[in-house]
Amino acid sequence: MKRLLSLFCLAGLLLTMAACTEGAQAPSPSSTPSPSPSQSQTPDPQPTDTPEPEPEPVVYPGPDVPLVEWGPDQVVEHLFFHPVVAYPELAFDGDYMENGIDDWMVTVTEFNRILDSLYERGYILVNINDVWSEQPNENGEMRMVRNTLMLPEGKKPLIISIDDPNYYDYMLENGFTYKLVIGDDGEIWSYGKDPQGNDVYSQDLDIITILDKFVEEHPDFSMYGTKACLSVTGYVGLFGYRTNTDKANQTPEFEENRQREIEAVRPIIAKLKETGWYFGSHTWAHFNLQDASLEKVQADTQKWMDEVGSLVGETSILFYPFGGRPDGTDVYSIGPVFRYLQSQGFRVFCSVGFSSYTQIKSEISAVICDRLHPDGTTLRSARALEWYSQFYDAREIIDLEARPDRPVAWLEE
Ligand SMILES: [Zn+2]
Repeated sequence: MKRLLSLFCLAGLLLTMAACTEGAQAPSPSSTPSPSPSQSQTPDPQPTDTPEPEPEPVVYPGPDVPLVEWGPDQVVEHLFFHPVVAYPELAFDGDYMENGIDDWMVTVTEFNRILDSLYERGYILVNINDVWSEQPNENGEMRMVRNTLMLPEGKKPLIISIDDPNYYDYMLENGFTYKLVIGDDGEIWSYGKDPQGNDVYSQDLDIITILDKFVEEHPDFSMYGTKACLSVTGYVGLFGYRTNTDKANQTPEFEENRQREIEAVRPIIAKLKETGWYFGSHTWAHFNLQDASLEKVQADTQKWMDEVGSLVGETSILFYPFGGRPDGTDVYSIGPVFRYLQSQGFRVFCSVGFSSYTQIKSEISAVICDRLHPDGTTLRSARALEWYSQFYDAREIIDLEARPDRPVAWLEE
């Protein structure tokens, strides 16, 4: 039942991401605004030269912080978010996207409230790659095992993943930031436009820069500076840069622009890696694996590796679009699509649910896990005060002034 619900939950918004099929969107050079410095909040963030990397500050926990074991039987919670709504007046303007954004996103205000609550309750960010590892079993077969984590006393481990930080075209019109850039200070900023159409460079409007700032201000919210896993697709490129191919547009001009975009995104990716971010696949085309053919999955995976993996590097983490489990299920059995994906190097397969459920597979080297999703569906749910109560009190998170006038189940009881 839980898994049925989770499939249902993700089927909404992302269906309307017009481009779940290959080539459905034809990015033009003009869709990638150049970060001109006019009206910017930071001086000239044009990423012309890659700045010299500065020595990293000492990260938490230092040698003076005693660490205690968090054993393999103790839960490692896993939350996921989409990009956050920077301008609710654009997101919730009554157009066809309004309900989808209300369902599947949180606003900047809500995300800040959630971070404050997670921090107050003792959560600390860990890297999903540290939670499990692959080891030989007694028969010499490689299998996944849950590691013992070493954490500061009183802290509880938390994985955060962020799906679809690709800066899809629909987001640009609906109150989200447009792309990541590197400012003169060498740090990541977001670029976008405010409701009046002014260029805005900021570190307070994008989920990535907000989390960067939060960890900078609260170093003990992160083990060794780790941030979150960025679950990226490929069909409109990466982080606001149109690095993707497009079957419908194979002109030399398109390819020249694509190569420029590839060069432009490289320093962004390098900076993200340097500052604790890491990457997973969300497939290239963002399609449901539940009923996808093996051939389709093979072609898509190759394309993700060619266009995305070639830039962000290898990953063993796969995030199912719409939460859709390959071959119809990966809980009760392993099918050919799952086996193929595992053969391509994926080991951690993430769906969506209402608990941080995990299952280490015995017959193959893989682990499946669910993630919880703070968003409009769960914040409005009758069980909002119960399902997410270890993280926050939904009554203190939901921003009903910014969100559209839709039912809040726990208010009506
Ligand atoms: Zn997605």
